[in-house]
Amino acid sequence: MDLIDTHVHLEDEAFDPDRVAVIEQAGAVGVKTMINAGSTPTANCAAQLLTKEFPGLFAAAGVHPHEFPDLGVEKLADLPGQLCQEKVVALGEIGLDYHVFPDYPPPHPEAQQAAYRSQLRLARIFELPLIIHVREAQADALRLLREQGPFPNAGVFHCYAGGTEFLAECLELGFYIGVGGPVTYPKADALRAALRQAPADRLLLETDAPYLPPQTRRGKRNEPAAIREVAEAVAALRGMSPDTLAAQTSENARRLFKLNPFDSGCFTYAIKDRLYVNLTNRCSSDCTFCPRRVSRRVQEFDLTLQREPLARELITAIGDPKAFREIVFCGFGEPLLRLPTLLDVARAVKARGGRVRVDTNGQAALIHGRDILPDCEGLVDEWSVSLNTADPEQYQRIVRPAGGASAPQAGREVHAGVITFIQQAVQRGFRVTVTAVELPEIDARALPQRAAQLGAHYRGRVPQRLGEPED
Ligand SMILES: [Zn+2]
Repeated sequence: MDLIDTHVHLEDEAFDPDRVAVIEQAGAVGVKTMINAGSTPTANCAAQLLTKEFPGLFAAAGVHPHEFPDLGVEKLADLPGQLCQEKVVALGEIGLDYHVFPDYPPPHPEAQQAAYRSQLRLARIFELPLIIHVREAQADALRLLREQGPFPNAGVFHCYAGGTEFLAECLELGFYIGVGGPVTYPKADALRAALRQAPADRLLLETDAPYLPPQTRRGKRNEPAAIREVAEAVAALRGMSPDTLAAQTSENARRLFKLNPFDSGCFTYAIKDRLYVNLTNRCSSDCTFCPRRVSRRVQEFDLTLQREPLARELITAIGDPKAFREIVFCGFGEPLLRLPTLLDVARAVKARGGRVRVDTNGQAALIHGRDILPDCEGLVDEWSVSLNTADPEQYQRIVRPAGGASAPQAGREVHAGVITFIQQAVQRGFRVTVTAVELPEIDARALPQRAAQLGAHYRGRVPQRLGEPED
């Protein structure tokens, strides 16, 4: 049986005594792929480390509504940085939970909504699917989702507990339905009725382990291996075999979270004498002029990624780098979000005598929380840094950065950070070109001079030809 647990909390302390055994037991019953849902800034970090140890484990990063008993936006400060990590495939779990727990501070709807809104905005910028937790707050959850959308990457209503009406609204928004242990509970007739109606291509299976064990394990710690029971229950109520249901729901999970190892997409593309490398569709800015909002095509190439390429795949795809004038990391996304992969590929290109250029928004130090230039020495020949304006206020208005690793910086601070990146790159002896999209509403005249002061070259770009390679 091929099963994917799309919602598990393996970093939870409940698994401290036997985490490896739990993951092995899951593998033994066919659960070889899992998505660890984020809940707190600390849990997001811990999950990130686990994904490095276990090849089949992917992560989502997000801050749960329970973390907002009061207005505390500082809890979101690290999230942009966490969304840039390798193997992060979703933003979540986020949402609204108005349930009153006896031993918990009362819910603060206004605080939860503010946090939910901010995280929805990040999901849009980073182009990640959402994992949404809703309890006793369905109307607000849908209203804010519509207000902040559209979300073409969709998402999942995890631990779905609604009836048929809510189901129709979720489906209309393009969302998936996450089904866990509660489907086996004796009182869950309304849920089972809704699940009989849900289209097969929108169902996902999950455990939410260590929480919400299925009926046979109630009161005990839940584990990802228990997803078999969920699969059997859902298959029975839909009148299909567990194997068919498992295959269908796993295909759904791979589609939503872009996990399919057989999807390749356009990882590299050659135009004239340059080879371009398309590392990611995630980005840390939301530029008003970005052509990706309209189309992902560059000439005959569609740069929409069904999953992010691995370093070894790119090295094979590049072949002999000397066959090209240069290898350019660009694409509709920020390549430096995938710093480790970029460096592995650049190292291979340099070892084979190629030239490397990186087209970037220059926000890497803010996102990774450190100066990344020392890592790049000898591996990158040229930086092409899109600054767009010499004016910090205007930068905030047109580039709309998501924020940095340690604080959701205002645009003017991000602008200062990009200038520092340019200065430090020049000081380290890299060739640096500052670029700007020459929009009518931007006064770009100050930029060539600013670039020269910083010791960098300047290249203006015509808005109509964005996404196209330069001559
Ligand atoms: Zn959860």
